[in-house]
Order: sequence, then structure tokens, then C-alpha cells
Amino acid sequence: MISGAKRLRVYRRDGYACGDCGRQMAPFDQMLSLDHTLPRSKGGTDTESNLVTMCEPCNQRKRNRVPDGADHFALWLHEYRRLAGVFTAADPGR
Ligand SMILES: [Zn+2]
Repeated sequence: MISGAKRLRVYRRDGYACGDCGRQMAPFDQMLSLDHTLPRSKGGTDTESNLVTMCEPCNQRKRNRVPDGADHFALWLHEYRRLAGVFTAADPGR
């Protein structure tokens, strides 16, 4: 798992700023949390280079938006297909 010392190193590296919304936090702020750049479900590791500082609200929003088993690419593909459907006159699937 991620040790406290590693967390602090990542927070300090990122300047205690959320990698998503840019919220500036103070050291030891309760809002501070970590996120994996490459999800563990996709083989991401707990190395510092794969970790990014994130505020708790963003992390929670992300957890709610990304169900277990899903990943960014799948969501992106879904969104892309939805948009493509809007702009494509004939949808062969219907
Ligand atoms: Zn944030």
C-alpha cells in the first residue's frame, strides 16, 4: 500500500495542488488525497510517478463516475460513440 511518507512526498512534489481542479491545499489538509494516473485495475502501480495529488471532492466525484471495472478509455470510447451517433445521419446499429 501507499505509505504516509510516500503520500507526503507526492503532495509536496505537486505543491499541495489538486491535479484535477487545481485547488490549492495546505500541507496536512484533510482534503488531500492521492489518485493513480494509471488505475491499479489497469496494472498501475503505487510508484510515485503513477500517483498524483487530488482533492477529496474530485477523488469522490471520480469514484462515483467511474464504476469498478471501467476505465477512462472505456468511458471516453462510450462518449465518443455517443457523439458520433449524434453527428452520423445513418446509425447502422438502428
Ligand atoms: Zn480537485
